Amino acid sequence: MTTKIKAQLFCLHCNKETNHTITYKGEYLEDIKCNICGNEIKINREKLLETYTADFIDRVLTKPHRVTEEIKKDLSYFLKSMPIRILTKPYRVAQEVGDILHKEKDKK
Ligand SMILES: [Zn+2]
Repeated sequence: MTTKIKAQLFCLHCNKETNHTITYKGEYLEDIKCNICGNEIKINREKLLETYTADFIDRVLTKPHRVTEEIKKDLSYFLKSMPIRILTKPYRVAQEVGDILHKEKDKK
């Protein structure tokens, strides 16, 4: 069962708090998406275990009965602290970065 929850969270791309859609699949958080820039973070629990404790992951990634301020704070902290190698870059974003690099090359 998939559940979608909207929440204000910190987006690294927008560099401010924006509306996010949090998707839970069953009991676990599956992805977090910024509604403003479309940046999407897919959650890979295995990779996260290299960086965070199981306690923290369970607290942040398990579907809450209701979204409290504390959970939002945890999620924002989680987004800000996530190492870049954990992020599964959506193809579109990777392509945009490629486009910017090409444009800069063309200028020279
Ligand atoms: Zn954003």
